[in-house]
Amino acid sequence: MSQHAIDIVRSKGRLPARYGNFIGGNWVAPADGEYFTDYSPINGERLVDVAKSTAQDVEMALDAAHTARDGWACMAPAERSRLLNKVADRMEENLELLALAETLDNGKPIRETKAADVPLAIDHFRYFAGCIRAEEGAISTIDNDTIAYHFKEPLGVVGQIIPWNFPLLMAAWKIAPALAAGNCTVIKPASNTPLSLLILAGLTADILPPGVLNVVTGPGGSVGQAIAANPRIAKVSFTGETTTGKQIMRYAAEHLIPQTMELGGKSPNIFMADVMEADDNFFDKALEGFALFAFNKGEVCTCPSRALIQESIFDKFMERAVARVAKIRVGDPLDLTTQMGAQASGEQLKKILGYIEIGKQEGAECVTGGARANLGGDLEKGFFLKPTVFVGNNKMRIFQEEIFGPVLSVTTFKTIEDAIRIGNDTVYGLWGRRLVAQWHQCLSGWTWYPGWARMDELLSRLSSPCRLRRLQGIGFWP
Ligand code: NDP
Repeated sequence: MSQHAIDIVRSKGRLPARYGNFIGGNWVAPADGEYFTDYSPINGERLVDVAKSTAQDVEMALDAAHTARDGWACMAPAERSRLLNKVADRMEENLELLALAETLDNGKPIRETKAADVPLAIDHFRYFAGCIRAEEGAISTIDNDTIAYHFKEPLGVVGQIIPWNFPLLMAAWKIAPALAAGNCTVIKPASNTPLSLLILAGLTADILPPGVLNVVTGPGGSVGQAIAANPRIAKVSFTGETTTGKQIMRYAAEHLIPQTMELGGKSPNIFMADVMEADDNFFDKALEGFALFAFNKGEVCTCPSRALIQESIFDKFMERAVARVAKIRVGDPLDLTTQMGAQASGEQLKKILGYIEIGKQEGAECVTGGARANLGGDLEKGFFLKPTVFVGNNKMRIFQEEIFGPVLSVTTFKTIEDAIRIGNDTVYGLWGRRLVAQWHQCLSGWTWYPGWARMDELLSRLSSPCRLRRLQGIGFWP
């Protein structure tokens, strides 16, 4: 199936032998001529070569962005909005292409890229195109002779660094609001998943004025640093690992520029005894919520990677929950029936297998999964895992550290006070879900009740942003 998908992307002219950087509306070869290879996690095969850029390429992108800056900032909001809507239309015309590219590059199932990642990315452009039509300033009275005008102004040129778990959607989360607000951007995709953003840049080259959107690929340690530490950016926005986020904040501190950081998570689902009072739709939804740790292969900052289950129902609940997990279909991400695809990279697979080993050594009981999934044939070299469930206690590393894979850590509690304490016993704070008939207390971060996630709910929090807390970050999510 992969070859067929590659042929489709190639036939649309979106899989050249290699990609340069997208700077000033053109494809520009990296200054020192170096490229690296982007592989598919589905079968480990080469997809495309992309620019292995350096600080020099970042400077060129910044030159282009600064040249475009004033024109874009001064453009009437109605016109900016029209262009962003055109970007959305162009993405919609190419939904299949973008979804195939994303699945090939990231390993996530095509049913998700087609139904969630790409449509939601499109919706972000439409949402922010709409927002700026309704944006207003304010006036306040200081005293009888003095008033203050409150204007909203673009920052200028911003730097954006994104990870590999939602490559296109994450790019849209960053690009759409920045451009809508009149900023130009220099954005760096993750080295494991640059393809969909490069395709987006090519697709919109005749819509956005040159220099408004600039994409520079290459290693985070050099290219990411050259962006975040650059005195010519007015703000840096980052999503990724907490230690990388701290490093980027240090770079940005040099120039005292604002930062948005969206980092790690270790979120709990809390299952109270009354979810099992009836064997009904509510209980089915609770089991679905339990199995959501495997959504996007567990490579999600909001992953419900801990489950807290009231002691009185534990045995009966786990019997049904493990049976539900066994129904998750792991397979070829290009097959429409597949629910869990390949982990995004070999490094990520290795990291997750390492944590599975740590869980076993810590004495946690592995009740299902716990190993690589060998799918054979064309997928033999793909990075597939079995959804894994451990039972242990909240002090264990597998309960405390972000694994970012389909690994769930389950423990018990007696009372709701216990559950709240255990739920909050984490360095992160993104969200928690308590499954119960009545809801009173909040966990750290953003709490959903009754608490099963729909994919659109999970990924499109456009009008209900969540304030990030603790080591989860600074600013609002998404
Ligand atoms: P990173 O945080 O290292 O990477 C995210 C982005 O930052 C990538 O574009 C990366 O570039 C770039 N980057 C890396 N180092 C620097 C740096 N020093 N300065 C500027 N930019 C940098 O995450 P990893 O890809 O290494 O993943 C490791 C772990 O991070 C995962 O296992 C997971 O636990 C967590 N993670 C969390 C995410 C979230 O949404 N909360 C998303 C992704 C990862 P490059 O790809 O070239 O290295």
